[in-house]
Amino acid sequence: SFHADVVPQAPEDPLFGLMAAFRKDTFENKVDLGIGAYRDNNAKPWVLPVVKKADEILRSDPNLNHEYLPIAGLQEFTSASQKLILGADSPAIKERRVTSLQTISGTGAVHLGALFLSKFYHPNTKRAVYFSNPTWVNHHQIFSNVHLPHHTYPYFSKKTKGLDFEGMIESIENAPEGSIILLHACAHNPTGVDPTQDQWKEICKVMQAKKHFPFFDCAYQGFASGDLNKDAWAVRYFIDQGFELCIAQSYAKNFGLYGERAGCFHFVTGPSPDAENIISRIASQLAILQRSEISNPPAYGARIASLVLNDAELFAEWEDNLRTMSGRIIDMRRTLRSKLEEMGTPGTWNHITDQIGMFSFTGLTEKQVLKIREDAHVYMTKNGRISMAGLNTHNIEYFAKAVDKVIR
Ligand code: PLP
Repeated sequence: SFHADVVPQAPEDPLFGLMAAFRKDTFENKVDLGIGAYRDNNAKPWVLPVVKKADEILRSDPNLNHEYLPIAGLQEFTSASQKLILGADSPAIKERRVTSLQTISGTGAVHLGALFLSKFYHPNTKRAVYFSNPTWVNHHQIFSNVHLPHHTYPYFSKKTKGLDFEGMIESIENAPEGSIILLHACAHNPTGVDPTQDQWKEICKVMQAKKHFPFFDCAYQGFASGDLNKDAWAVRYFIDQGFELCIAQSYAKNFGLYGERAGCFHFVTGPSPDAENIISRIASQLAILQRSEISNPPAYGARIASLVLNDAELFAEWEDNLRTMSGRIIDMRRTLRSKLEEMGTPGTWNHITDQIGMFSFTGLTEKQVLKIREDAHVYMTKNGRISMAGLNTHNIEYFAKAVDKVIR
């Protein structure tokens, strides 16, 4: 029988623990650099103006109801999502070799993909998924839950605070043929380090030779560079090379729809005469998995995103909002780097502007992270990751000085 008293206490989620500690801190100039959500220049959440507009359109629709969505979600949303990530003129869409299901944001998409692969992907006896070291911590948990063994490949070079490209390639090359390789499409979390296009081409070549299966996690399209196409480049390149792959797509960051849980899972099969049949069978299996997990996805966030994605004028406004967010973050990167360089803070600081997206791996050690929290009330994760969105023109000088002090 089940003895509830044998259930051990689970460790606290480090990120949520950090947020709680920040809330408790009464110091006036405290700085929150842990949060993985965009903040405006006043450290406040930002509702995208285009989302406000879509929200008003939805609310004034007399026919809006609260019926269930289909199992695969809102059709206008999933088809627009395909075009967004794959490109409107993608051959994969034309040749009907993509199937897409609306999911509980990016997390749900990663989970659905992991579950599907755990059930149907058997390329070798030692099948496993490979994550970058480090990666978004939830990857480990999600794949463990579906009993897919996972390993890591080197990714971050402590020396250059950039990509350990040789280590990454060598590890992918040495993985058993047919391994699942999880890749961040852009704005790698937690490091902010992305391969260059030439490096992506090399990765692609090695993966092709080893018949690996790419699993792209795309949580920051448009949020990284401000350019939706540029941020989707790697995914589209792999598809152009004929890969079969899957994609987890999140609208949390690029629409600011964090709590609405809008996301999409795509499975793309390679070009073949039988592709349409293969994809139809895969879609049928994904639908069964989705049904048993969530029955059908939540409607509201998908309706908002769908309105914007399917209307040229709103879409253009969204692109403008994306440039506002990415532009402010890129600005903060430039300012932080130049302030540290002006003060002559020991070390090199080019990585702050070389890295991209929400996060930056500063290179601060755990000891320094704890000291800066204690002395300056600046909150960041122990690995030295900062959320660039937590910086603004009011606190960046304070932060740069705190970094300078803890390093000297
Ligand atoms: N994948 C990565 C790499 C992320 O950084 C995140 C969010 O932080 C997600 C997936 C999923 O986020 P959400 O479930 O909020 O869309």
